[in-house]
Amino acid sequence: MHKSLNPNQDLELTWRNDKNHVIHPYANFENFSKEGSTVYAKGHRHFIYDQQGQKYLDGIAGLWCVNIGHGNEELAAHIGEQARNLAYYNTFEDSTSPSAANLAAKLASLCPGTLNHVFFGTGGSMANDTAIKMVHYYFNMLGKPKKKKILSRNLGYHGSTYLAHALTGIASTHIGFDLPKDDITYLSTPYPYRKPEGIDSHSYCDYLIDEMETKIIEIGADNIACFIAEPIMGAGGVIVAPEGYLGKAYALCKKYEILTIADEVVTAFGRLGKMITSKEMFKVQPDIMVLAKGLSSGYVPLGATVISSAMHEVISRPKADNPYFSHGFTYSGHALACATGLKNIEILERDGFCEHVNKWGPYFKEQLTTLEDLPIVGEVRGSHFMLALEYVTDKKTKTSFPMEVNIGKRIYTASKKRGLIIRPIGPLNVLSPPLTYDKDAIDETIGILKDSILETVTTLHKEGHL
Ligand code: PMP
Repeated sequence: MHKSLNPNQDLELTWRNDKNHVIHPYANFENFSKEGSTVYAKGHRHFIYDQQGQKYLDGIAGLWCVNIGHGNEELAAHIGEQARNLAYYNTFEDSTSPSAANLAAKLASLCPGTLNHVFFGTGGSMANDTAIKMVHYYFNMLGKPKKKKILSRNLGYHGSTYLAHALTGIASTHIGFDLPKDDITYLSTPYPYRKPEGIDSHSYCDYLIDEMETKIIEIGADNIACFIAEPIMGAGGVIVAPEGYLGKAYALCKKYEILTIADEVVTAFGRLGKMITSKEMFKVQPDIMVLAKGLSSGYVPLGATVISSAMHEVISRPKADNPYFSHGFTYSGHALACATGLKNIEILERDGFCEHVNKWGPYFKEQLTTLEDLPIVGEVRGSHFMLALEYVTDKKTKTSFPMEVNIGKRIYTASKKRGLIIRPIGPLNVLSPPLTYDKDAIDETIGILKDSILETVTTLHKEGHL
């Protein structure tokens, strides 16, 4: 065995404790830990090291989140200082902390329009749950209690708490959980690569918008509260909607008094070369903005729901039956978490991370697109540092691999062996690296991916899958 990076922790003990006691998120209980998990022990910029000392390029920033890169000394020192001063005090009712107040003000300055009021939580799911509770509260306050239905989208990802999971339009993940889906309608995925037969690229956007309007009329606008959407779908497969789609969908929402929720958990804080993408990139003005991940670069759990002044004015009106807005978490406005968020944003802005992503994002996409020449790469898509490859058995018919081939996982495994971590999602691999990723990292990533795909193609031929 290689020398352990953490001399106090025996690798065999970690494996044993993990296997016996940890329930992993999205666990595959059948396959779990046949060989023992990879134990990640240290990170530096876009490199990550396992406990056996093996070095990898982190092609996914942990889970789309370590935007400023691993092991940032400045942020670590700031976290230490805040912990020594005051790690935590509650922010219920009339208590606050300088970091919660200042981070809220900073987010208000970054978010477009009148998105000026921030509710803090610990992650994206909680922030989406908060958004929906606020929407319901808002329409109840307005005396429109029938406006309860939610428009989401197939393959949209919004989290894993009871409600956020229901908002998530990935049907296979719903099985077995009895999620509260009665009030949710899932619109079609705006998926240019897999648009319906007979619809050309030019009319595809209008086709989707017509479908949305038909659904709104069918349900009745008086019954619909909100539309939730990621500007670019992430975990559903890095799906970029046709040009103009989001603007037209938002225009419909305005027409029918439907509130818009921009789930920017992945897209904000530099991944697409902008701090906030709704207005700057997609030219839309949401009523609610949901933030997490890059907000703290994953150094501590933090999420935020930002609402418009108009919504805030309504939900803060006096209410006869209960004077409180009875929603809150122990860790809302957590002093250390908010201090981390503030410092993280300062670093992102000061060190020009958006400029870096704008410079290298197009090169990354261009290089990755060269892999479309390989046999099984159906499409390379995405933008800047949010990219994916979709694999098919036949490029003409766009036939997907059977589930049991586990194509994304195979290429993940082949890449990991070569020192690159990518994310397998069904028939795809996702790339969402730390924003420190430079030309060397991009070139090495492309080289490893190419070798890994070619090796996998050879194996698939031998196994008769191709
Ligand atoms: N929204 C989006 C767009 C996400 O990608 C995620 C997480 N991948 C979430 C919400 C949920 O965030 P969390 O896992 O922090 O609860």
